[in-house]
Amino acid sequence: MNFCVQCGAALTLLVPDGDNRPRHVCGSCGFIHYQNPKIVTGVIPEWEGRVLLCRRAIEPRRGLWTLPAGFMENGESADEGAVREAMEEANARIGITGLYTLFNLTHINQVYMLYRGQLLDLDFEPGDESLEVALFSRDEVPWEALAFQVVRETLNFYFKDLESGNFVLRSGTIDRNPADQRGYRMRLLEG
Ligand code: ZN
Repeated sequence: MNFCVQCGAALTLLVPDGDNRPRHVCGSCGFIHYQNPKIVTGVIPEWEGRVLLCRRAIEPRRGLWTLPAGFMENGESADEGAVREAMEEANARIGITGLYTLFNLTHINQVYMLYRGQLLDLDFEPGDESLEVALFSRDEVPWEALAFQVVRETLNFYFKDLESGNFVLRSGTIDRNPADQRGYRMRLLEG
């Protein structure tokens, strides 16, 4: 961030009075440009033991599989956003049943909220952002071709819970861990 959104003057990174971390502050009008995490909302579309995944037609991770999810829009709730994303990416109609995972992705300043949702019919087809969309059982999921770690962790929990019949809301943090094979670590907030 280089220029003020209010007056166009150059910005300086400094800790404002009464604050405790650096902000982009306008040297001309004094406007403080706060930057905060973005919320990504999405859904696990369910149909008789299988889930709907979308193969991405856009970067990043074009060609890899993911759950319908995207940035929340102003004026909508997180669950409304999840329904909208399923429609946009898969032309899928969803009845949301509840929040399933909440993951903080601190390395990219995003919070993922993924819901469970029942597919209302099977008339889905790829939206503009998807190359293909399909239903997968646990054994059919392209585990090595998933786009995002947060989707992999969520689907792991989902199919484990599906087997036990006991779905549990999970909350935690996923961040980078160079020591790990995949480069990430996941920590659950227990209790
Ligand atoms: Zn300014």
